[in-house]
Amino acid sequence: MLFPYLDTVLVDAVVPADGAVHVVARTRNVVMSCPDCATPSERIHSTYKRHLADGPVGGQAARIDLSVRRLYCENAGYPRRVFAEQVDGLTVRYSRRTPALLRVLEAVAVALASRSGARFAKALNSVVSRMTLLRLVMAVPAPVRAVPKVLGVDDFATRRRQH
Ligand SMILES: [Zn+2]
Repeated sequence: MLFPYLDTVLVDAVVPADGAVHVVARTRNVVMSCPDCATPSERIHSTYKRHLADGPVGGQAARIDLSVRRLYCENAGYPRRVFAEQVDGLTVRYSRRTPALLRVLEAVAVALASRSGARFAKALNSVVSRMTLLRLVMAVPAPVRAVPKVLGVDDFATRRRQH
């Protein structure tokens, strides 16, 4: 219930350390597809630890120490030989934060941006720089405004009066 996005991985332990709740987890041995050529693979090259900052739990910062696999791609037609697996809803390539935390920080960034946003995020036990918040604002797509297909006489009159 607290971590619905951990359903796809195996949780080995939940331990307190360095003022945060650490969830120690590893991926299941499932077949993954190469991100370049979609060739399925389960041949393990190596494993490594990813440390992901997650949204606070019970007022404490939460970290996910996730063991992920590097897998061989055996498609000879592509140059990539090894790829790192990603877990849907939990890992984003190159990101040190979970999508759940990114969504919270995006909301903070859009509402408060910059310095005040960084201070508010700290109150949520998520240390984030104001530059990171600015980058999150820039990455959020602008809301799509509906363009009216038909203008009525009243719309036209309103515009004229404003003019
Ligand atoms: Zn491949």
